[in-house]
Amino acid sequence: MPQDFKNRPSALYFDSHMHTPLCQHATGTPLEMARAALDAGLAGITFTDHMPMPAWYDAPWRMRRDQLDHYVSSVREAQSAFASRLEVRLGLEADFHPGTEHWIEEVLSAHEWDYVIGSVHYIGAWGFDNPEFQDEYERRDPGALYRSYYALIEGAARSGLFDAIGHLDLPKKFGLRAPEDGPALAALDVIAARGLALDFNTAGWRKVVGEAYPSPELTYQAVARGIPFVLGSDAHSPEEVGYRLGDARQLLLEEGARVVTFKARILQEEDSEAQRG
Ligand SMILES: [Zn+2]
Ligand SMILES: [Zn+2]
Repeated sequence: MPQDFKNRPSALYFDSHMHTPLCQHATGTPLEMARAALDAGLAGITFTDHMPMPAWYDAPWRMRRDQLDHYVSSVREAQSAFASRLEVRLGLEADFHPGTEHWIEEVLSAHEWDYVIGSVHYIGAWGFDNPEFQDEYERRDPGALYRSYYALIEGAARSGLFDAIGHLDLPKKFGLRAPEDGPALAALDVIAARGLALDFNTAGWRKVVGEAYPSPELTYQAVARGIPFVLGSDAHSPEEVGYRLGDARQLLLEEGARVVTFKARILQEEDSEAQRG
């Protein structure tokens, strides 16, 4: 870690989940996001923009495959511009959607990634976290909805493609809670067995549900299974960078959780300095 972090009174942790305008629903270039992170006193950031997917899948909400090189170079640009002041890492938030595994493999092999989040945003053809399609919740049986969702999460964990699972209990976003714990706990068992981490995602504190992902109960259950956590704001604008990560980190350490980051897709424990910070 660069020398000049040593005497800074600010936070020494990472924000490992953020987006760029390439996904078509975020503002703030990588340079602007990095500047915001520096101002927030973070030690580092990892860009995890929405991964390109086949053209038929969720196209308006992500970069195209032919924009991937531009994404990488824009993150590299921020990396060199902030070198020695802020560590900037390169990642992706991938979508797990059965049948697209080979596509994901190809994208992951195209560059050297630091961190890859596996997220489920679709149950079948329904983009269930999109506010536009929120009324679909009224037509669904909550138990069946959550069972289908966690079956997909298990598939994501078993795929071997990802370092962490994104926003674990995402279907609660608009306020609908899981009527039973079983499916989530079974998914946590698979996540633990496959050695994945969980994205502790503070965006939930900005949504209707008013609760981070995962919930306190699922956080407790994950800690009990030895699953480590990666802090992320899921920032879609510079103002959201670092959002309540101090609260999140404190809560996790009080639970006895390990807070980690990923570099070159290898898990990094927070250094001892950060533990004190
Ligand atoms: Zn997004
Ligand atoms: Zn997401």
